[in-house]
Parts: sequence; structure tokens; C-alpha cells
Amino acid sequence: MDWIREKHPGEGGPAAIGIMGGTFDPIHYGHLVTAENARHFFGLEQVIFVPAYRPPHKEDRRISPPQHRLAMVRLAIASNPHFKVSDMEISRRGPSYTIDTVLTMQRCYPAARLFFITGADAVLEILSWHRVTELLESCIFIAATRPGYQLGQLRQNLASLPEALLRRILTMEVPALAISSTDIRQRVREGRPVKYLLPEAVEEYIYRQVLYRGS
Ligand code: NAP
Repeated sequence: MDWIREKHPGEGGPAAIGIMGGTFDPIHYGHLVTAENARHFFGLEQVIFVPAYRPPHKEDRRISPPQHRLAMVRLAIASNPHFKVSDMEISRRGPSYTIDTVLTMQRCYPAARLFFITGADAVLEILSWHRVTELLESCIFIAATRPGYQLGQLRQNLASLPEALLRRILTMEVPALAISSTDIRQRVREGRPVKYLLPEAVEEYIYRQVLYRGS
């Protein structure tokens, strides 16, 4: 099967921008490596991190307040001149539909090709996303996979998409995604180390703000 392509060098062209979507609770090196690899591999001019205000499928799950997640992203990307952060989903409030974000980015960068970068597990459910056809017509998806990720489930879930749209979903394996936000939150809760899993400034922020201590 070739419709989920593993590699797509130079896809970006000169005016290509990555939109890095996620909850980032907290941001970690897996996310940063994903963004940097996508930037390099697809020739993106910049990658804009967009922390979700409320991921649409997480209405019932407790996530950290958006100002903390945004602050941690700011700290994490500070040293990379190609990385930016946008608070557009946080300012917009309500469910963070990716189509709204992509259409806003289109208005901000009318000449650019847009790439939406996120985790493959999020993309698994893309058929249930708001205005999915329009979304896939508006940007190319880069679904980052953890080591050992089996593409079978993704292929199965996407099988009903028309070929032309399937071709707009690319996958990229990122070994550093062995790190996960869930694991980091659990480590902090249990008093285990998180050093070297995320930038020091983010680690300090977590301890200073006493995040992830509750159940
Ligand atoms: P999630 O369910 O928290 O994450 C699914 C998996 O992907 C997790 O393993 C996660 O690892 C990983 N992941 C998340 N963002 C990543 C990134 N940028 N790079 C690499 N791995 C990433 O997913 P989510 O954060 O809630 O949603 C992802 C994005 O999809 C968000 O921007 C969200 O708003 C969007 N979304 C939109 C719709 C819609 O428009 N209807 C529906 C669902 C999701 P970590 O836990 O380690 O991050």
C-alpha cells in the first residue's frame, strides 16, 4: 500500500508552513523532535505550535489550564528561530476544531502550503473530525508515529476516504516519541524523574506551578 507514504522529501516547497497541533500537557522532546524533523524533511519555513484550548474529543478529560500549557510551549521553543507559538485556539475558546485553525492560518499566509502535524493516534479518528473533507483539502497532514507503531489500524480507519484525500495524509516515524505526556504526568505524580524527557525550563515550570500532582 502506498497511500500512507513514509517519506515525502521536499513536499513543502519554498512557502510551506507547519502547524503543530496538540494538547501539549506537557510539551516534551518528542514533540520538539517531531516538529524539527518535519521542518527539515518537508522544507517548512516555520512551524507554528498551536496548543488546543479544548481538544474536541476530550470534553470529559481533565487537562491542565491552557495558560500553563501555552507557557510551557513558549519556554520549550524559545531557542529555535524556526518555531513559533500561536494562542489562536486558546483565544478562540470553545472546542478547538482544526478546520477553524487551518482556515485562519490560510488567511494569515495566503501563499503558503499548510501542513498540519500531529500524533498518528489523533489522526486515527480523523473521519469524525469537524468538516474533514474541507480540512484535508486545505492542508496536508503529517501523522507522527512512535517507534513500533503499526500502520494497519490507521489504514483501516482511513480506508473509506477517497484516494485523493488519503494521499494528503503522510506518516513520519519519530523515535523520540517514545516519550509521552501521559508518562511524564504520571512520573511527576509519583515523584519519579522527568529530567532529559523535556526541556529543563519546562521541568522547572512544572515544579514551580505544582502541576500534575493531583490524581
Ligand atoms: P491526543 O489524543 O492527546 O494525542 C494522541 C497521540 O498523539 C498521543 O500519543 C500524543 O502524545 C500524540 N501527539 C499529540 N500531538 C502531537 C504532536 N503535535 N506531535 C507528536 N505527537 C503528538 O491528541 P490531541 O493533542 O488531543 O489532538 C491532537 C490535535 O488534533 C490537536 O490539535 C487537536 O485539536 C486536533 N483534533 C482536532 C479534532 C477536530 O477538529 N474535530 C478532533 C481531535 C483532535 P502526547 O500525549 O505525548 O502528546
